[in-house]
Amino acid sequence: IKTIGVLTSGGDAPGMNAAVRAVVRTALSKGIKVIGIQRGYNGLLNGEVREMDLRSVSEIIHRGGTVLYTARCLEFVTAEGQKKGAEKCKELGIDAMVVIGGDGSFKGARALANLGIPCIGIPGTIDNDIACSEYTIGYDTAMNTAVEMIDKLRDTTQSHDRCSVVEVMGRNAGYIALNVGIATGALAILIPERPYDLDHDIISRMNQTQKTGKKHFIVIVAEGVGHAQELANEIQARTGIDSRATVLGHVQRGGSPTLRDRVTASQMGYHAVNLLEKGIYNRVVAVSADKIVDYDINVALSMHKTIDTMMLDVANTISI
Ligand code: ATP
Repeated sequence: IKTIGVLTSGGDAPGMNAAVRAVVRTALSKGIKVIGIQRGYNGLLNGEVREMDLRSVSEIIHRGGTVLYTARCLEFVTAEGQKKGAEKCKELGIDAMVVIGGDGSFKGARALANLGIPCIGIPGTIDNDIACSEYTIGYDTAMNTAVEMIDKLRDTTQSHDRCSVVEVMGRNAGYIALNVGIATGALAILIPERPYDLDHDIISRMNQTQKTGKKHFIVIVAEGVGHAQELANEIQARTGIDSRATVLGHVQRGGSPTLRDRVTASQMGYHAVNLLEKGIYNRVVAVSADKIVDYDINVALSMHKTIDTMMLDVANTISI
């Protein structure tokens, strides 16, 4: 491997920059040239590329977003788009690709691998919804941002004796909601992995808790459950408690990455380049039992991850 390409794809996540930095600097330390590809697979197809030197990744470790920009690329989902992408790699002299993103981005990487361009995937998404990895870059920062916002909401919720129904991100997964719910002492946490019962899980819990003197409530709703406003209306109608919905939205995708995201991203970027240098191709870098590991890309894409329902028991027992 003489030259590698690196791109960020799908939704952005804090810590992607730290991963790009690690890929660039590890590669350069081994005498491997790095081409930065902008805006995901779009940049590959359009030739939006630049050579990365040591200083090209200066002053980015603490910055959210991605200096390579990111995008979704519909053309790349087609066989023609993928063929064009592989040809572009050859034209640009790219011997292997490092793709930082989610499962969709890894499917793109697998398509390139099948066309003869070795690839390594690095899990970058705030949602933590990549099955092969216990941890994804951006997850910690997003959760901490959500907690910070909800702590602010709690102040005003408390002073008005209200109920705050807060929707947090996570796509179809409840990982962010579950952790944030525990960390903010939410009375109820609704996640897509577990159907809820409005009466049992929220209304009767609120009534019961009110009797013990509690007057303000936080309900966390995962993006995959949604309908925060309807839920707030329903709670208000059923309990008489003034209820407000807040959708935290994209603030959760930005901001300076936490230590955990910076360190994990650095380790993953380093690991990805080491694999390529050793001639180990078509892998996804992952965290397992707090160690950096890697899986075959096909295996990685066929794995499944489950929610730890013990966490719900923790929340239900303590946040009352
Ligand atoms: P996140 O879920 O965090 O947004 P992601 O990588 O899963 O990340 P997607 O929008 O699913 O996000 O995928 C990003 C890009 O990867 C797509 O726009 C497309 O270019 C490429 N991609 C997705 N699915 C495929 C596929 N089946 N084959 C080839 N390329 C794909």
